[in-house]
Amino acid sequence: MIQIRDKHFEEFLTEKDIQAYIKTLAQKIDEDYKDQELLILGILNGSFLFVADLARFLTIDPEISFLKFASYEGTSSSGKVNDLIGLNEDLTGKHVLIVEDIVDSGTTLAHIMSLLKNKGVGSVKVATLFFKPEAYKQNIPLDYVGKEIPKLFVVGYGMDYQGKGRNLTGLYQLKA
Ligand code: 5GP
Repeated sequence: MIQIRDKHFEEFLTEKDIQAYIKTLAQKIDEDYKDQELLILGILNGSFLFVADLARFLTIDPEISFLKFASYEGTSSSGKVNDLIGLNEDLTGKHVLIVEDIVDSGTTLAHIMSLLKNKGVGSVKVATLFFKPEAYKQNIPLDYVGKEIPKLFVVGYGMDYQGKGRNLTGLYQLKA
């Protein structure tokens, strides 16, 4: 068991488990994109370790870039605006793979997809290391899923609890 700030967590998946899931995903992506130029778009902050490890398992030669949500109070009717930072490159005709650490409700993913619309991309697919099917509220297909997990709060391997825990090599679940 480990403690992060005021909470206790217990190991849910080991580093070895996680690396095996990533290797399997990399093999599929290698095969699927062997004849196409791939642009990997990692969604920060949580995906930084996953993109780093996935990229090094790949034998194809992708472009790699990152996007980040800037959350700020805006003047729109909802009062809250989410913009993506980093979407500067020309995506016309590109084969884009969105890479997320974890898909929960799918709200983040739906937002990214809507922002990629009308950019003339050649194709868009989605890879996520972890997926909580019980929490998913979208019907956007997830093309590459490392591991389905129950509806738990997890930290580690890129994911945080109040900014900490991202550098843990395994995945930890909140202890009830
Ligand atoms: P969604 O928009 O799919 O509900 O949530 C996606 C984002 O919420 C993820 O990219 C991740 O940053 C965060 N998230 C979702 N579930 C968890 C979790 O169990 N632990 C942590 N630390 N972050 C999560």
